[in-house]
Amino acid sequence: MDIEIVTIGDELLLGFTIDTNAAHLAREFAALGVRIVRRSTCGDDAESIASAVRDALDRTGAVITTGGLGPTADDMTKPAIASIFGRGMVMDAEILANLEARWLKRFNTVLPVSNRQQALVPEDCTILVNRHGSAPGIWLEDERGRWVAMLPGVPREMRGMVADTLVPRLRDRIAPGGRVIRARTLRTANIAESALADRLGELARGVNGLSLAYLPGVDGVDLRLTSYALPAAETERALRDASARIREKVERFIYGEGDDDLAALMLAECGVREETIAVAESCTGGMLGMRLTAVPGSSRVVLGGTIAYANEVKVRELGVDLATLEAHGAVSESVARAMASGVRTRFGSTVGIGITGIAGPGGGSPEKPVGTVWVAVDVRGELRAVRALLPGDRHEIRYRASQLALDLLRWTFAGIEDANGWTAHGATSSG
Ligand code: AMP
Ligand code: MG
Repeated sequence: MDIEIVTIGDELLLGFTIDTNAAHLAREFAALGVRIVRRSTCGDDAESIASAVRDALDRTGAVITTGGLGPTADDMTKPAIASIFGRGMVMDAEILANLEARWLKRFNTVLPVSNRQQALVPEDCTILVNRHGSAPGIWLEDERGRWVAMLPGVPREMRGMVADTLVPRLRDRIAPGGRVIRARTLRTANIAESALADRLGELARGVNGLSLAYLPGVDGVDLRLTSYALPAAETERALRDASARIREKVERFIYGEGDDDLAALMLAECGVREETIAVAESCTGGMLGMRLTAVPGSSRVVLGGTIAYANEVKVRELGVDLATLEAHGAVSESVARAMASGVRTRFGSTVGIGITGIAGPGGGSPEKPVGTVWVAVDVRGELRAVRALLPGDRHEIRYRASQLALDLLRWTFAGIEDANGWTAHGATSSG
């Protein structure tokens, strides 16, 4: 079954309210194997609502709306949609009685005239009981089986009603065979999506009929495999087989799955290896330390760190050679290396990490443009450094630098000697 969602509200069009209802509905229904094929949003006027819902009905015959069910003049959803079905509006005695009782109990007054409107419903509709608020939902269906389910806009009420009334109602209509929509995400870092696609070759567009999406973000590019049309019993195996085939091609770039965090993974790895970490941060200003210590239990691994922003601090606190700083500049391989081994020695950790770079927006030069970052890792005296030109604004460059440093540590632990993937994509390394 394919469904369209129409979310209703001027506040959504103006961008004051983020449309979380559509996202919630899409996720809930995907889990049931129902495809949300289109989402649209319209304002609070009857004409826009009628036209959006009519178009959606013409395409799928199955539409869920949220919003515009309240008691005020801007709540036009019910009459607008009733008009598409050629139905008038009638007063529902039961809803009216409930509203009157509710008002008497809560406010000790008679029901205001404007609230009586909430008891007006389309002719021949089914009421969807709302246990979470005052505006009931409405189910309208025509003789051809085309339907619209109208839910309230308040997210908590909408979510409650999806679970209470809509999902049970649709369960019988969902295609037999229990087809479900399931996804699996492989997380990569420090490789561009085009480079991933090149390496994936024939798998780049999908694997064994499963779709493959490239989702770039500051952590890296997530590869999401989605199965849309298999029975529940087959999806897990299909996703496992497909992700194994992808791993074969780009294993070295994959650091995790699902919502894995590279900082947490590296802490766990350090725990197993009995390593301890100290960090020396310049352009990231403590961001790596923050990410590491955000993970519960990090005190077993993290000893501490130095925010070495000024050159004097790099010299005094980390023992970086002043002559090296003057000869190569603060953003250089030799300074990153000296920071990593300096912090390791001074803190007595087994692992030292150094980060130095130009986060911008100012401070770039032709040889070292904004985004130039050197990171170095010293694991028990084995030193590695890598340079990258990171994209984005100041925040993104800083975050990506912390991710690069963690990934260099991952590569070091995994014994991935050849960093050719990095050199090929804007980064160079030296062992
Ligand atoms: P309504 O049912 O249209 O009166 O909406 C009531 C309130 O629910 C609005 O003021 C919004 O704060 C919220 N709301 C409505 N639609 C959405 C939506 N699609 N996503 C998130 N919040 C919404
Ligand atoms: Mg509204």
